[in-house]
Amino acid sequence: MSSPSDQIVWKRSKAGQKEMMKETNNHHLHDHHYSSSKCKTEKKKASEATKRHSELVSYRALPEYMKDNEYILDYYRANWPLKAALYSLFRWHNETINVWTIYGVRMVDGNEFDAFTTNLGSPKQIYQVCVDSSLQRSFSVAQAMNVSHNSEDLYLATAALINLTERTPTEMLATASDMLASRWPFFVFLGGSMFCLLTSSTCHLFCCHSHHLNLLLLRFDYAGIAVMIVTSFFPPIFYIFQCNPVWQVVYLTGITTIGIFTVITLLTPSHSSKECRPFRALLFFLMGFSGIVPAIHALIVNWSEPRRFIALAYESAMALSYAVGTLFYVSRIPERWKPGLFDLAGHSHQIFHIFVILGALAHYGAALLFIDWRDTVGCSL
Ligand SMILES: [Zn+2]
Repeated sequence: MSSPSDQIVWKRSKAGQKEMMKETNNHHLHDHHYSSSKCKTEKKKASEATKRHSELVSYRALPEYMKDNEYILDYYRANWPLKAALYSLFRWHNETINVWTIYGVRMVDGNEFDAFTTNLGSPKQIYQVCVDSSLQRSFSVAQAMNVSHNSEDLYLATAALINLTERTPTEMLATASDMLASRWPFFVFLGGSMFCLLTSSTCHLFCCHSHHLNLLLLRFDYAGIAVMIVTSFFPPIFYIFQCNPVWQVVYLTGITTIGIFTVITLLTPSHSSKECRPFRALLFFLMGFSGIVPAIHALIVNWSEPRRFIALAYESAMALSYAVGTLFYVSRIPERWKPGLFDLAGHSHQIFHIFVILGALAHYGAALLFIDWRDTVGCSL
């Protein structure tokens, strides 16, 4: 129950409420208007900031952590958002060629890989050999041991096809079982090279994002180089010492141990500073230099092999390419002669990349030669 005075209060309060509600609605409208205009301003500010962040700057405007080569004066990306850094793959700046030389070689590597796998033969031949070998081997093995070795059959059949497309499946199988060397060391080398190229291109593309990411990617870049050096030892050591298993294991274990130690050291944050540059250079040099011992050993063991000079020529071309590339990298030629002229194209790091690629291709040629040699002579020498 309510008294008349109560009703007035109620009406007043209702009226007041209406008034209040109206006021609140107005407030909401005002709020909405305010927030939408605020949102627009913020969006505008954000797009301006993105635009500002995606502008190329000069060396002097760079944050301290990005100041590395004072002879490259302009076209830097500094503190760019990740998305803008990714899209900069298709823009001109002083890292464009560095990124694209790496992607270029990945394509070359990919094509070489395709060429390598194309030598396996036509799909029909592959199928025929797989079926033949599987039937023959499974039948004989099952007869002898009552056990199936399908994966081994498939492997042998696949290996048999490499470079032997002109032969009959049975000939291929016989040759594969007797002669063909394992392919895995070659793929270890290809995998290591791909990893190095991946870390390097990622570093060149995203190093401009922040100091933290810059340090992280640089560490992975160094580790990628170490992985490539270590894995490039696998094909020559494996194939040259294939018939001396003790030395094969000694050298492969040795280089893998050195590689693991180097990668862990390079991934340690305290070793990625500018002050540690000589230490890093020493590590890479020691890794490369450790190849001299098995190389001399290999020459002595295979002195009578006529193809040793071709292999030596390939590996010397690789060493020369790496050495010349490193000279450009360290000396900062040609940009030191004419600062600013080579900002976009032609500076030392790009030349260094080209020589590293040439070196890797020479080593790739040597690896194919070693495989072919072992496929031909086996362990008969
Ligand atoms: Zn580089």
